[in-house]
Amino acid sequence: MNTLTETAAAPGTARAVLIEVQLAAVETVARDTNIYTFRRPDGGRLPPYKAGAHIDIHLPNGLMRQFSLVVPSLDPDSYVVGIKLDAASRGGSRYIFDELRVGHTLKISAPRNNFPLAENAEHVVLFAGGIGITPIWCMAQELAAQNRPWKLYYSCRSRPDMAFRRWKNCRLTPCTCISTTKPPASFLILPASSTRRRRMRTFIVAVPIRC
Ligand SMILES: Cc1cc2nc3c(=O)[nH]c(=O)nc-3n(C[C@H](O)[C@H](O)[C@H](O)COP(=O)(O)OP(=O)(O)OC[C@H]3O[C@@H](n4cnc5c(N)ncnc54)[C@H](O)[C@@H]3O)c2cc1C
Repeated sequence: MNTLTETAAAPGTARAVLIEVQLAAVETVARDTNIYTFRRPDGGRLPPYKAGAHIDIHLPNGLMRQFSLVVPSLDPDSYVVGIKLDAASRGGSRYIFDELRVGHTLKISAPRNNFPLAENAEHVVLFAGGIGITPIWCMAQELAAQNRPWKLYYSCRSRPDMAFRRWKNCRLTPCTCISTTKPPASFLILPASSTRRRRMRTFIVAVPIRC
């Protein structure tokens, strides 16, 4: 089965190859937050990626939205994304929550990574706010798999909004969860300095208004 198509691209740019995938599973992991697993209809492999990567999901309603991959894999047969329903959605997350069902097919881009994890940091401190946890979560798993030291600061409006806290695939232990009702910016003042400051890498993903 040919599951690749090409989309029109801006003049002078390469055509983007799209991949047809099928929604294989949906799991609710927090308030208004679901995990969606996509696979090729023929069960084949998907392009590899590293933590921090995202895919474009092309929805049947004509909208396209980006979502970060939450499970690190160099030889994936599925893509897993965590999606928060935006209460003011113009149709992206709203369509996914209301219309997209297991078995439906749609087109996605291959993964792109504008947010790669530093390979050589001695200690990594991760900060995430709200649904901004998704690429950070992938990084934490990758660091844990590599036995590298890391720490996660995760802020959310409330504990029921915290994705992954009780996800069955969670195998991470050195995880600091911070729940706050204050604006997410408040947690950014947590001490990220230490004697190893210069050898430390910090990754932050936060949602500025809502989380
Ligand atoms: C690289 C990347 C990775 C991402 N990863 C994730 C992820 O893992 N999980 C996830 O849930 N989301 C992720 N997102 C966000 C996601 O792509 C969508 O933006 C999100 O789902 C909202 O889309 P929507 O269509 O539901 O809402 P939209 O209709 O796009 O609305 C989003 C917000 O914008 C506001 N808005 C509406 N119109 C305007 C306007 N004219 N001007 C200004 N603001 C307006 C709305 O009030 C609403 O709060 C990511 C985005 C990027 C760029």
